[in-house]
Amino acid sequence: MAQSSVLSGLDRVREWQADFYRDLHQHPELSHAEQRTAGKVADRLADLGWQVHRNVGGTGVVGLLANGDGPVVLLRADMDALPMREETGLPYASTVTGDADSSDENAEPATEQPVAHGCGHDMHVTCLLGAAALLADGRDSWAGTVVAVFQPAEETGDGASAMIEDRLASIIPQPDVAFAQHVLPFPAGQIATRTGPALSAADSMRITLHGRGGHGSMPQATVDPVVLAAMIIVRLQTVISRETSPAETAVLTVGSIQDGTKSNVIADQAVLQLNLRTYSERTRAKVLDAIRRIVIAECQASDCPRDPDFELFDRFPLTDNDAETTERVAAAFADFFGDSAGDLDQQTASEDFSDLPDAFDIPYSYWGVGCIDPEDYRTAVQSGRVDQDIPVNHSPSFAPVIQPTCDVGTQALVIATLAWLGTDR
Ligand SMILES: [Zn+2]
Ligand SMILES: [Zn+2]
Repeated sequence: MAQSSVLSGLDRVREWQADFYRDLHQHPELSHAEQRTAGKVADRLADLGWQVHRNVGGTGVVGLLANGDGPVVLLRADMDALPMREETGLPYASTVTGDADSSDENAEPATEQPVAHGCGHDMHVTCLLGAAALLADGRDSWAGTVVAVFQPAEETGDGASAMIEDRLASIIPQPDVAFAQHVLPFPAGQIATRTGPALSAADSMRITLHGRGGHGSMPQATVDPVVLAAMIIVRLQTVISRETSPAETAVLTVGSIQDGTKSNVIADQAVLQLNLRTYSERTRAKVLDAIRRIVIAECQASDCPRDPDFELFDRFPLTDNDAETTERVAAAFADFFGDSAGDLDQQTASEDFSDLPDAFDIPYSYWGVGCIDPEDYRTAVQSGRVDQDIPVNHSPSFAPVIQPTCDVGTQALVIATLAWLGTDR
């Protein structure tokens, strides 16, 4: 059987994977600055006999393994880390610092800050390289083409689109299907799939309100942006509560308001920053329209001298798993992993992976890989303290156990690929 013959090389792959993972973990790199990681990935892919393209969309790496006639499967891993201090206490914890990404205009001014793989992307890279090794060694058992995409800058939401805008479509054949995975805080050894919307779409919006500044004692000569911003913030609470169907899930948060400097100075502008999470394009568009409508109307009600400015940033697309594709993946996982394959809860987190399949107009599936020590997880469940005691992605204490996380993530990529390319499929 194709699966058992390709996976028979896992013992050999597992030996270098753990070292490779610990090295990546100790050398995390911020979004758009993944040079060292990309270099190691590209060198390893070349050693494994893959055709390699470097510097796609900045630091992106694309591997191609053409193996006769058959479908084209795209596998994607993200490579970037986060500007945060690691507090896992692991012997291979990160102690490095890096410059905030200068290409991100919303980032703090470039300063050295701690960097850590707090989202587990180092595990994604390690698993995809392991799968690349297994598929290269086991090429007698499958036919078609595998494309391995090592993407920069997932955390800033613009790495996948950067690869597309660069030259991705001109260096790979049109894929038929795309897969990606993420380590998540459930027990290692388990794997979880979900049909339909799995991760939310996210949008951040910066709104600049233009008032008329003046002396705090002479409000009649001003348009006060503080009062205006307050009205807007209250009115925005009705977008979800009064305008969105109770059957829809959506979140709208005003996370920041910046306005004024002194008690007796009326400022001439205010800046609000909003974050929005939605699970359908329809709701997303409707909520964005409602925000604009309310803000413009409140500005008119206050007699602002100018219309407000709207700027969208940190936008993440919806991750909406294709039903047929996901059912085929889930069936293959159930066959192989048995009871350890289950359903993924809908996540409020967001991802830019779907920019890749959307650019090629192809179906995709994105699944979760458990990464928490099963014993720790069991203890937390028994004491009713999962939320308090199990560190989630982006927590300074987030520490995936290397095994069986790495095995499951590697096997999952191979199994999904062979469900399309295996000669016995
Ligand atoms: Zn993340
Ligand atoms: Zn992530």
